[in-house]
Amino acid sequence: MNSYSINRRQFLYLGTCSLCACLTLGDPAFAAFEETTNNGSQGIQGSIFRNDAPQELWKWSKEAKFYRNSQDNTVTCTTCPNFCVLSPGDRSVCRSKVNKNGRLYSLCYGNPCAVHMDPVEKKPLFHFKPGSRVFSLATTGCNFRCLNCQNWQISQSKPSEVRHRDLFPGEAIQAAREEGANCIAYTYSEPITFYEYMLDTAQKAKSEGMDNLLISNGFINQDPLLKLCPYIDGANINLKAFSEKIYKKLNGGNLEPVLRTFKTLFDQGVHFEITNLVIPGYTDDQDMLKKMCNWILENVGPDNPMHLLRFIPRYKLDKVPPTPMSTLKDFRKIAMQEGVRYVYIGNTNYSPGLNTFCHNCGELILERKGYILGENNLDGNSCKSCGTKIPGKW
Ligand code: SF4
Repeated sequence: MNSYSINRRQFLYLGTCSLCACLTLGDPAFAAFEETTNNGSQGIQGSIFRNDAPQELWKWSKEAKFYRNSQDNTVTCTTCPNFCVLSPGDRSVCRSKVNKNGRLYSLCYGNPCAVHMDPVEKKPLFHFKPGSRVFSLATTGCNFRCLNCQNWQISQSKPSEVRHRDLFPGEAIQAAREEGANCIAYTYSEPITFYEYMLDTAQKAKSEGMDNLLISNGFINQDPLLKLCPYIDGANINLKAFSEKIYKKLNGGNLEPVLRTFKTLFDQGVHFEITNLVIPGYTDDQDMLKKMCNWILENVGPDNPMHLLRFIPRYKLDKVPPTPMSTLKDFRKIAMQEGVRYVYIGNTNYSPGLNTFCHNCGELILERKGYILGENNLDGNSCKSCGTKIPGKW
């Protein structure tokens, strides 16, 4: 057993599938999954869990960094735009935070339920240190309720319901180094819900020369995001749709705060890539894609890579068919015609959708076969053929 209380078998206890970032759960130790509120035509939305706080705080409890309290001991969590208002004994929508006697605590500090090594391409990040190996961490919890969630076993669970391990910030960094990684990704579930753990780990990792990656739905308030930005080297933010109606119906969230996150990352100079999952009947509308691209071009420019992901049936959308390849190819073509320079197709083996081509001369810059890198025609951070600077952190 290593000093950070996790052995190699435990370290790998959550495997990942080869095509996407989805977790394949290797252990049945999951308690009953609690269904979320469903308001029918109003869309899905998460609800606060009344009188659901544990009797005692445990060693993974940490006082939250962003909240307001009032004289009657009610607290308002201000980490994300859910703004959960909790009376003493209540639990937040994300299931990770509780009000104990007028103070807000995170219950998932240093207790990840998923720890894994991944290639950076799997996040997906295609313009960030290609071929890097990334130490990936997740605790339980999410502030959304996506019908298609591929990690619902952990995202829609409470910290006490899922097997987890001690891995406090210093131990996580040590574990990453022992695995040969110089980069930590906060990923799989929703890292905004384990904000305190992520921030402390990222600050310490940065001070020791490591990179940090945020893989998120982007549903975070401005102050916590600004505090986090200096420590984040790369991000992939999932832009689930370009419609408030679909965000409500599919994800139990809102679009506007996510758009604000993109602008903030851009203003703060954080490298980020954009993911959009193309779900038949939900997000496969070409007009919506055009509006999304136009917003991107107007607000954050043409250089942030965009990943169009193929939907695979799962969770509550298990009867919806996979995205046809023709739809994805059409989407890529449209996004590029609109002016987005780097558009990829994920969750498939379609090579033109995996490779990087220079936006100026069209020559192959980086070849990818799945997550394996092939031909590399980068000269520093520029195209070997025409000398154009390729956006990203190489
Ligand atoms: S935001 Fe991500 S982790 Fe959360 S429910 Fe949606 S897909 Fe799952």
